Amino acid sequence: MLNIVIFGAPGSGKGTQSERIVAKYGINHISTGDVLRAQIKAGTELGKTAKSYIDQGQLLPDELIIDILASTLDSFQESKGVIFDGFPRTIAQAEALKKMLAERGQEVSIMLDLDVPEDELMTRLIKRGQESGRADDNEETIKKRLVVYHSQTSPLIDWYKNDGKYQHINGLGSMEGIFAEIAEAIDKI
Ligand code: AMP
Repeated sequence: MLNIVIFGAPGSGKGTQSERIVAKYGINHISTGDVLRAQIKAGTELGKTAKSYIDQGQLLPDELIIDILASTLDSFQESKGVIFDGFPRTIAQAEALKKMLAERGQEVSIMLDLDVPEDELMTRLIKRGQESGRADDNEETIKKRLVVYHSQTSPLIDWYKNDGKYQHINGLGSMEGIFAEIAEAIDKI
């Protein structure tokens, strides 16, 4: 089982690199952000709740997102592994993931930290907002999301270092170059 946590600030390239990892290693992909956006589009109660947090650049409550994660995980059958994209984002979520995988006789194989400087993140996200129309990719919300990343999410770097799963990846450069570094790290597991 190949269980990969792809980690990084908003705009670090998690979604793009996840697609490549899925194509090469044939594992399932969970993007909590994609799940929430699909719920918003479908107009569900969960979607309405999610929208109120996403529009403010805030994280959804841990219990809610952990439940979503657990049911998505259970929906995979005969899986070769999973790439977790956008989850965990807090220490409580990382602890829940560890427990959830342990209950299934599994563990996180590696945590890939896509490291990108802040000015580059801003440039990428503003461009993505113009191209995709993603509502939370506007300058004001991006700034809030980066503050949330630094206060609530970046402590996971040390958490995964302590857990012996941390792998730094240089997130600047060509998509191919970044993917080559990722594949090299995965192939060493
Ligand atoms: P993303 O597409 O991963 O950038 O996620 C977009 C937004 O969805 C985030 O800014 C949060 O509001 C929400 N979200 C996604 N994943 C999580 C998570 N693991 N915990 C809490 N909120 C999340």
